[in-house]
Amino acid sequence: MTQSKWLDAELKYDSGVFNKHQVVITRGQGAVVWDDQGRAYIDCMVGAGVGNVGHSHPDVVRAVQEQAGRLMVLAQTLPNDRRAEFLTELVSVLPQGLERVFLCNSGTEAMEAAKKFAITGTGRQRFVAFKRGFAGRSLGALAFTWEPKYREPFGEAVDNRHVDFITYGNLDELRAAVTDETAAVILEVVQGEGGVRPASLEFVQEARRITSERGALLIIDEIQTGFGRTGKMFGCENYGVIPDGITLAKAMAGGVPVGAFAMTAAVADRMPAGGHGSTFGGNPLAMAAGVAVLRAMKREGMAEQAREKGAYFMEKLRAIGSPKVREVRGLGLMIGVELKEKSAPYITALEHDEGVLTLPATPLVVRFLPPLTISREQIDQVVASFARVLENVNPRADRQAELATRQEGQPTR
Ligand SMILES: *Cc1c(COP(=O)(O)O)cnc(C)c1O
Repeated sequence: MTQSKWLDAELKYDSGVFNKHQVVITRGQGAVVWDDQGRAYIDCMVGAGVGNVGHSHPDVVRAVQEQAGRLMVLAQTLPNDRRAEFLTELVSVLPQGLERVFLCNSGTEAMEAAKKFAITGTGRQRFVAFKRGFAGRSLGALAFTWEPKYREPFGEAVDNRHVDFITYGNLDELRAAVTDETAAVILEVVQGEGGVRPASLEFVQEARRITSERGALLIIDEIQTGFGRTGKMFGCENYGVIPDGITLAKAMAGGVPVGAFAMTAAVADRMPAGGHGSTFGGNPLAMAAGVAVLRAMKREGMAEQAREKGAYFMEKLRAIGSPKVREVRGLGLMIGVELKEKSAPYITALEHDEGVLTLPATPLVVRFLPPLTISREQIDQVVASFARVLENVNPRADRQAELATRQEGQPTR
């Protein structure tokens, strides 16, 4: 295997927390990225659901180039034309009543903000979160993240005694967990990292009803489901539910780092001035990119595209009919295929043999998060590739072959 100098340097100097692929990606356009050898890949990762408008969308490129030459950074205490424009555009597409926005730079920061605003907004400090839920990796957001492997290395520094984890989808547990001490319920309408699991209509609606009844906030984590991904601008719109706050990041600025917590005025008004902050939050560069994304999404009807293409994609995946598949599920273009065995060898084969980039979500699921602009021809290619790897990959036989090679004393790769 030829390893480029880029790969060598990255493997040498990176912190080591990332399980690196053996490729160096240098360029992207739409739903395709290219490596340093010139090989093309259909990208169904797009930075874990960041590139909803596709790589290097021309409007985003133009907006960033223009803004970079004008003004890139500015304290949030100083008003700015681009930021004002972005806030206006964002609030116009947010669910009704969400009219105040705290701007930051990532999903985990959006969740930190949500947590603080929920505490000051309600005067309460307990939270309800869900098994298999993922809320980010900062110590505050990590307290809402269920999977122990994310929390355990950090011991008591991850204090989640203020969080009750309940079973996603269980109405009885939900009714029992939300009390008059609950500041907020933190809910993904489709669990992303937790295996691409859409909640039932009844469950999300009951979460809204019970939080309202008991004076708690319903905060929906739309970091992965937001900006057209699920076939609506925001995932909660599929459920006819208006939350008290939503966390946003990933796709909001087409690849430029950005995050936000959008909330009602009632929640925002109870945070003392200076109670939270962010140096880079709301910087004009990210805001210009965000304006371009929101306008392109509206003009190109991207949420609608996600709904139609998502239904097409899932239908094609189901039609593969492989005995290795337990379930195909999802909402819009947020799609997971749960296998009856570990998904990693299939994800690797998709990349190496087929030039298709996908993501895991729990050890059994292959997750597809393509740009919403992916073409039907590209979807057909991805499905054909997936059908081939399901047919060809045989982890058990591969493992036995490797063991046999080792016993013969030959070097392994
Ligand atoms: C990605 C993600 C986060 C964390 O976002 P970062 O930008 O990686 O900090 C939080 N919640 C959900 C649902 C996510 O998908």
